[in-house]
Amino acid sequence: MSKSDYYELLEVERGADEAELKKAYRKLAMKYHPDRNPDDKDAEAKFKEINEAYEVLSDPEKRRLYDQFGHAGVNQNAGAGGGFSGFDGFGGFEDIINEMFGGGFGFGGSSRGRNGARKGKDIRVDLTLDFEEAAFGKKQTIEYLRTEECDVCHGAGNEPGTDTHKCNTCNGTGEVRYSQRSLFGESVSVKQCPTCKGKGETFDQPCHQCKGHGIIKKRHSKEIDIPAGVFHGAQMQLRGEGDLGSNGGPRGDVMVVLRVKAHKHFTRDGNDIYYDLWISYAQAVLGAEVMVPTLDGKAKFTIPEGTPSGKQFKLKGKGVPVLNGYGRGDQYVKVNIEIPTKLNKKQREALTMFDEEMTGVKASTTSEAEESKQSGKGKKNDKNLFNKIKDSLS
Ligand SMILES: [Zn+2]
Ligand SMILES: [Zn+2]
Repeated sequence: MSKSDYYELLEVERGADEAELKKAYRKLAMKYHPDRNPDDKDAEAKFKEINEAYEVLSDPEKRRLYDQFGHAGVNQNAGAGGGFSGFDGFGGFEDIINEMFGGGFGFGGSSRGRNGARKGKDIRVDLTLDFEEAAFGKKQTIEYLRTEECDVCHGAGNEPGTDTHKCNTCNGTGEVRYSQRSLFGESVSVKQCPTCKGKGETFDQPCHQCKGHGIIKKRHSKEIDIPAGVFHGAQMQLRGEGDLGSNGGPRGDVMVVLRVKAHKHFTRDGNDIYYDLWISYAQAVLGAEVMVPTLDGKAKFTIPEGTPSGKQFKLKGKGVPVLNGYGRGDQYVKVNIEIPTKLNKKQREALTMFDEEMTGVKASTTSEAEESKQSGKGKKNDKNLFNKIKDSLS
């Protein structure tokens, strides 16, 4: 399914600043909000698209990735149970939505307010990969803390064997009502009871392990499959691996945010990698066979005769594998000519001689050079001189 351009969705220019984005988002979110378009599937779909667009564009890092890679940069779906997504909950703009609609609002998996089921919180896990690991993928076990039901009180919250009482604040309902002014006038919002935290009851003696919360944080480990071709800043979404939901709601998700370490030889742009090769002047002029590093190990590389500095060669298919796709990028080898800074007498003489041969201007007295120039043998001797220089420089 092709996705619409985020900028077009929000009806803003590509260079739109934060304030313009927010304004455009507000306008459209109000227009397409499900509360204003009951039972309108198109409006609901549009509303989700707008939210996704704003979620990405309002985050500088995600926006940069989107600008660079398009949807592939922020939303790489890799099938069931996991995959890449830039859509990690509603962090930044939940506030706007709540401001507009008076809170208690949820979508995209979490149910709406009241005493209904709520999806658990999403957890972010940062994972740093080596350059090669990102290129070729790997299996990796991640560890993080997430909430689990308390195994002493089994989620009840009271110390086993002690009494519980109906909460006085909420009269046992677990929620309290607030009236609030919003864009659409006076509205009543319902929030979790602050006294009993939604349980509807209070305890004589809270559970000693969970302090009455019914849940505890526990270390959890999970093996994940990092596919080949992931890039710095990519996110892997592990559905249902986050914190416990409440009232029977599903677990939240885990967002694994990938960092990729720099490489000692290569830089990467998309799926292509770049390598700076340093060679001597003689090698550039005469051509040479050298070894260059590639992601697959060292490879023989032939520098053609007369290679200018800055020339770039392409090693086809030696780049990074395409994420969730086929084939690989390319490796570019950029040739740089190393200028020696310290020459001994012999090297200096050889170079001077060479220069005289090339320019016909005598820089110092060297009988051999003088002779060959006068007898018109300069061109013929070039090869010899090159070899001399090559020998003395290498
Ligand atoms: Zn407990
Ligand atoms: Zn209460």
